[in-house]
Amino acid sequence: MQNNIVHTGNLSTVYTAARDVFVREGNLPVRDQCNTGIIVLDSCVAVIDLSNQDPDEEIFLEAEKVTGFPVKYLLLTHAHGDHMIGMKTLHRSDFALIARDTAIGELKRNDVPLPEKVISVTGDTMLELDGREFSLFIPKEHGHSPWDMLIGLPDCGLLFGGDLIAKRSDMYLHSACIDGWIVDIHTLIEELKDSVYTDIVQGHGDMIPVSELADVENYLEDLRAAAGFEQENMRETEDFRNLYRKLIDRSVRKDVDRQIETILHNNGVSL
Ligand SMILES: [Zn+2]
Repeated sequence: MQNNIVHTGNLSTVYTAARDVFVREGNLPVRDQCNTGIIVLDSCVAVIDLSNQDPDEEIFLEAEKVTGFPVKYLLLTHAHGDHMIGMKTLHRSDFALIARDTAIGELKRNDVPLPEKVISVTGDTMLELDGREFSLFIPKEHGHSPWDMLIGLPDCGLLFGGDLIAKRSDMYLHSACIDGWIVDIHTLIEELKDSVYTDIVQGHGDMIPVSELADVENYLEDLRAAAGFEQENMRETEDFRNLYRKLIDRSVRKDVDRQIETILHNNGVSL
């Protein structure tokens, strides 16, 4: 489907991603914003992820302007700041929050005010929200973060993957477990085979076809190989750098350096 832009403003763009589904492409470099899903239901709107907002309600207001309906649900793909910190400045609580139980725990730890109604998700669940079906997938491993939840819309074949699904230099590894992440992506590839899902909205950047999940898995495997080599050969830094430079595209070398260092740090290896 051709993506039609329906709104621009606040350094962001809102486009049509499927029938009654919009994606607000947040501005990451300047405003530290993620992508936001805007899902039209029978008489209200569900929003997926709520990044930094200034003014305080810009994302809800944009969603309501584009759709003509009030926001009544907020779903979170995970609890990293760029996906939930908009809740901190939001002066509204007349909606239901739907997130993984671990994510809700993280919000509480960060003193994020919760709305009147909170729905805590502990495993794969189908939910009907005001006439539309949502399929919530909880990865079995600790992958990108301990809070990951994927949000599927089976009626249009779209899956919101949060940052579990990211391309190369967009991958953020600070709360990640690389082994778990590879297992989660591999499991997802198997689960989505012959499923209704055709496209994925990533936490940042463009929509991708489900077939590109294989690239995500391959890249994570490359990172693991490079980081693993370093752990066994702590003093042979040059060999390590030569190995992973062969593995990785030159254009993202600096990002790769950072990613490898994060993996090593997460595994208790200091450089
Ligand atoms: Zn993010």
